[in-house]
Amino acid sequence: MSSLEIAATRKHAEWLDANDPLGEYRKRFLLPERVIYLDGNSLGALPRTTADRLREVVAQQWGERLIRGWDEGWLDQPLEVGARLGALLGAARGEVVIGDSTTVCFYKLASAALELRRGRRRIVTDVDNFPTDRYALEGIARARGAELEWLHCDRVAGPCLEDVAAVIGADTALVTFSHVSYRSASVADMAAINRMAHDAGALTLWDLSHSAGSVPVSLDEDGADLAVGCTYKYLNGGPGAPAYMYVSRELLEQIEQPIWGWLGRRDPFAMEHGYLPAGDIRRVLSGSPPVLALAAVEEGVTLVAEAGMERIHAKAMALTDFAIAVVDARLGQAGFSIASPRDRVRRGAHVAVAHQDARGLCAALIERDVIVDFRGPDLIRIGLSPLTTRFVDVWNAVDVLVTLAT
Ligand SMILES: *Cc1c(COP(=O)(O)O)cnc(C)c1O
Repeated sequence: MSSLEIAATRKHAEWLDANDPLGEYRKRFLLPERVIYLDGNSLGALPRTTADRLREVVAQQWGERLIRGWDEGWLDQPLEVGARLGALLGAARGEVVIGDSTTVCFYKLASAALELRRGRRRIVTDVDNFPTDRYALEGIARARGAELEWLHCDRVAGPCLEDVAAVIGADTALVTFSHVSYRSASVADMAAINRMAHDAGALTLWDLSHSAGSVPVSLDEDGADLAVGCTYKYLNGGPGAPAYMYVSRELLEQIEQPIWGWLGRRDPFAMEHGYLPAGDIRRVLSGSPPVLALAAVEEGVTLVAEAGMERIHAKAMALTDFAIAVVDARLGQAGFSIASPRDRVRRGAHVAVAHQDARGLCAALIERDVIVDFRGPDLIRIGLSPLTTRFVDVWNAVDVLVTLAT
């Protein structure tokens, strides 16, 4: 559907809300009354069950079980919650584990990829990739004497096959992109880029931070090697929630990450001399799991699994279609332009709107309790988290922007 066919009216927004199969989910979250929250892609809202679960875990597990908790399931939480999360990403049990921050997980798996492709020196990524990924790669390149190949892709469409084909070769060790761009929301062609990388003998590492809980991901089926992503965006795991790592089963027995700790070791409680990686995905772990935070991640994952990725994706497309239609109709003549793909299947669950005074407008929106993100130099990023955003929220937010800008 092109945005021209969508009625850019408040009435239509109300109709879409009334017919939204996920409309009831908003009530499952604690959201402040007056705020129009369009930033669930930076920090997802708080599920009501999470507030209860955390109280319970603190009082009954930490408070009562104390050290015994480690023997009563805490140590398996990274794998258990990882398996449930992996199911949302097309990964089999034992291929996903929850560990450290996205940054640290990314560092570990990117380093591991270079280790697996020893002798090759090049890492391919794009200049619009998320900053922490770029910085981690710079650090890895320096530490390992590797070289970064920076793609300058179309700023709306993101990394495309021609871009990758132009630089990939016999010296490429790793090809790494965000699956959904944090700026434009473009979705990369994961299956095709995996094939292309494999044809050149390289490995792939995907950052799924803006994909999990917003668009379909089929890691196994699409032939991904490695992936990471955070759990506090569309998965609603809470501020600083731990990230996950995916390792394809083909690589599980060979992979070695650089932070050797006791909980990545085979038989950690033997406390023996010398490091030996665990026989399963635990080998990408390092230290103690964040037990309290994992409980919150589990609640977020449960909600997303219950709502179902198919319905979530359908709503993401409908919300972003509607947002684009309303911005086109009401702001298209006022210096605003859409900086996200117009093809609904090629974008995630946010819309980037370009305007030369994006910074000032974002500040003014936030002052009026319309919470959006500024992404320099000129983007207003509108996050439309499918479980918590109503179509009227989109309408009302653009309405405020219209009064500010015209
Ligand atoms: C949000 C985000 C991160 C966050 O990294 P942290 O280590 O959790 O701060 C990483 N990568 C991408 C693509 C993101 O969108």
